[in-house]
Order: sequence, then C-alpha cells, then structure tokens
Amino acid sequence: MAATQARDDGLLIGGRWRASDRLLDRRNPARPNEVVGRTAAASVEDVAEAYAAARAAAAGWAATPAPARGEILRRAGDLVDRRTEEIAVGLALEEGKALRDARAEVQRAAVILRYHAGEGRQAIGEVYPSAASGTMLHTQREPLGVVAVITPWNFPIAIPAWKLAPALVYGNALVWKPAEIASGSAVRLAEVLHEAGLPAGVLNLVTGKGSEIGDALVTAPEADGVTFTGSNAVGRRIGLLSAERGLKSQLELGGKNPSVVLADADLERAVQCIVRSAMYSTGQRCTATSRVIAERAVADELVERLVATASALVVGDPVDEGTEIGPLASAAQHRTVADYLALAPQEGHVAVCGGTVADPSDGYFASPTVLIGGSPTSRVATEEIFGPVTAVLAVDDAAEALRLANATPFGLSASVFTRDLNAALRAANELEVGVVHINGETAGAEPHVPFGGIKGSGSGSREQGTAARDFFTETKTIYIEDVT
Ligand code: NAP
Ligand code: MG
Repeated sequence: MAATQARDDGLLIGGRWRASDRLLDRRNPARPNEVVGRTAAASVEDVAEAYAAARAAAAGWAATPAPARGEILRRAGDLVDRRTEEIAVGLALEEGKALRDARAEVQRAAVILRYHAGEGRQAIGEVYPSAASGTMLHTQREPLGVVAVITPWNFPIAIPAWKLAPALVYGNALVWKPAEIASGSAVRLAEVLHEAGLPAGVLNLVTGKGSEIGDALVTAPEADGVTFTGSNAVGRRIGLLSAERGLKSQLELGGKNPSVVLADADLERAVQCIVRSAMYSTGQRCTATSRVIAERAVADELVERLVATASALVVGDPVDEGTEIGPLASAAQHRTVADYLALAPQEGHVAVCGGTVADPSDGYFASPTVLIGGSPTSRVATEEIFGPVTAVLAVDDAAEALRLANATPFGLSASVFTRDLNAALRAANELEVGVVHINGETAGAEPHVPFGGIKGSGSGSREQGTAARDFFTETKTIYIEDVT
C-alpha cells in the first residue's frame, strides 16, 4: 500500500506521514547557522500509536511469503541506487560526512538491501533424525515479532539498512527511532521502503529525542525485542530495561580499536590503512583506529609517515568534491573532541599533527590528530573519543603489543600489520575482539558476514549476514509423530 507523501519533518505511523506539533532544527555541521531540515519530535503517545500500528500489521506481514518480502527489499535496493545522489547529499548536509563517503554509504545500503532480499529464499529450518521411528523432527524460524530499532547518526543509512533489511525479510514489524540529528536520512530510507511496496504499519518511524521517548520504546508492552547501535551509556540503560522485561536485545556499542604494527610490517600499507580508519568519517566510526600499538623498532618511522599522510588530508565542506574529512557531526561531538584534545597534553600525550578544533561558529571541524607519548592507561588512550584522533603507543615486542591491545573494556575490531604468518595467526587467535583484520583497516564490514563486538562493545547476537537471523527470528522445534 502506498504511503501518503513523505515529509522530512513528519512521523510515519500506520503507513501515514503525519505532522508533529513540535519540531527540532537540524543544522549543517559545516555551517551551524544553516538549518537543513526539521525533525518531528515524537511524544510518548506517538510511540504508543506506532507500536499499536506495528502490532496490527505484524500478523499479515509474518504471513506474507518470505520471497515476496524479499522482493520488496530488492526493489528498495534498486530505488536507493537510483536516488543515491539525493540521499547522499542529504546525509552530507545533516551529518557532515564527506560526500564521496556518503555516496559509498548509500551504495552500501543498496547492497545490504539486495543481500537480504536473497535471504527471503534461503532455508529457514533444519530436519533432524528422531529417536522415534516414523517421526519427522524439524525446526522452523519464525519472526521475533514487533521489534524496536534504535540507530545512531554516524552511519544514518547503512546501519538502519543492516537492521531493517533482515528484520523485514524475516517477517518482523518495526518501530524505528533514528538519531535526532540525522533523521532526514531516516525519512528517505523509510520512504524508499514504502515506495518499494512495504505494507502500511510494518515499519513505523518515530523521530525525535531518545532522551524523551527512549524508555517508552523499550518498555512498550507490544515490543518483543530491541536492536540498538549507539553509545555504551544508552546501551546499558536499554540492556537494563530489556532484562527487566525479558525482552530480547541486541546491543552494538563503542570501541577503542587498536592497530598493531609489528617490526616486519609493510609500513606504507599500515600507514594508509591506519590513516583511513582513524580519520575518515572524521573518526566517528565505532570501528575507527583510535590506538596504534607499534613495535619500538619501527615506531618513529611509522609516526613520521602517519603525520605526513594525516596532515595531507583535505578537511572541508562535506559537499565539496575534494573534501576527504568533513566536520564533526554536532556541537556536542565538537565539545567532546575539544575536551579530549585539551586533556591529552595534561596526560602526557603530544600532538605531532592536528591537536586542535575550529571555533564552532565556523563549523564543527577538527584537524586529523596523531598523539604520541603518554600512558597507555590514560583516559585519552582508553576512552572512546569518536573524533579524528589516534594515539600511538610504543611497545617492546609482539607479545606486549597483544597484551596492550586487549587491555581495554572494549572489544569491537582490531588490525595487525605483519608479514609473519605465525604472528598473524597468534594475533588473530588472541585478540579479544569481534572482528580481526590482518594487514587491513579496523573499519569496514562486508554485508554477508557476522559483525559485532565482544566485552564492552556489544551483547546479543551478531548483526549482518545469516547471523542477523539469530536475532530477528525465534526457532520452533516441531515433532510430527506417525500414528498410522
Ligand atoms: P547514542 O547517543 O547512544 O544514540 C544512539 C541512539 O539512541 C539515537 O537514536 C539516540 O537518540 C537514541 N537514544 C538516546 N538516548 C536514549 C535513551 N535513553 N533510550 C533509548 N534511546 C536513546 O549514540 P550516538 O551518539 O548516536 O552514536 C555514537 C555511538 O555509537 C558511539 O559510541 C559508537 O561507537 C557507537 N556505534 C557503535 C556501532 C557498532 O556497531 N558497534 C556502530 C556505530 C556506532 P538521539 O539521537 O535523539 O539522542
Ligand atoms: Mg549521542
């Protein structure tokens, strides 16, 4: 069923876009005086209506054949392709991501949608031998039900796509709360899914402030599960509320991802990967390289090359084609990064490049920063900064490098640069993270393999690929006994 005309400042409930009496300005982080859109601030009552709509649509959607659900995702993927430029520009204007990265993100969402479209024709169960003769014993996957989807601003198209696509193909009805500052992107993605044929009420979009409607999203009686990507602080609260209610939860949280550079590494490759992973998207990636742990024998040369490469990055207006690094996404992000950069010298870290932020009235820019010195246990070296800042720590040998890499409450991703197969294998086995890259960036995730962190970086089943099925379905075990 076609939804009414999408509105950038509207809520989508039961297939209808509706106005809100309260609007929040979305600002261009490169020019904070410029309002680029308005976000409808959903109320707790709106959330309740969204859940009622999802519940009403859930049975019909669950009964829709999975290949037909997949077909809608395939069409949505094609529509995203066709609208790449418009969606990417909107993303760049509200979130500050360099346009070329915004385009890549939108393209990635199209790939994710099409990948999950194909999942609509995959097996949804297994047949087992039974101890009783003539008995058919099998499992079947059924939708989890009505699911809350809560997403961050740093990948406002790709992360929603990798939650919404599997949730939908496995037959769930959804209430989606995107990040306030990037909700224009959410409106466009919801619009595309409806244009592709998603029935009314299957996906409901409630924009606004998480601090106002967050609890209502997780405590709604209709909710069967919640999938969340965002900060550890909010994740902890969602985890608590979910546990209290026995709600299935999936939490993808922060990181303090190390790149380990051993003495035998291809240094130029290490430098290119580290600079991209640490600085692209202005360092605002959960998988950003925020620690570089280098064997002392190569540390000085590595730092010299990191500085040369990082300081050559083009920082500027995200919609300029030449820009590699846009501003931080918001005034709050800008403040956080400024505070960490002020703390760094007090903790003994020295900025060998960058180390400064712009005056916020000129845009929320921060220069790519490489820090050396300081203690590996400092706040700067252990807390997630979520800015274009990486701290280089020198160690004596590979064993110390792995110990330090693991000496963090986080466990999302890590990379190791070496030509030694044994060292690579040892690192792959010993690193306490969800994703390891050997001779590659800490950032980046292909859509058909599991993604997620361990330790303080996440809980619940992995996202993406077939792993997504574990969260978005329940398994039923069926015994059919022969009574002839
Ligand atoms: P955030 O502040 O935790 O916000 C995430 C989402 O939760 C937003 O939609 C936010 O809404 C909402 N929210 C805020 N308070 C809430 C509450 N009390 N109850 C329910 N929802 C609430 O995170 P962020 O600043 O957007 O994103 C940055 C963080 O995400 C970083 O820590 C990063 O590492 C992490 N991240 C992790 C992954 C991963 O896969 N592991 C991927 C990307 C990002 P508002 O926008 O209205 O505040
Ligand atoms: Mg936040």
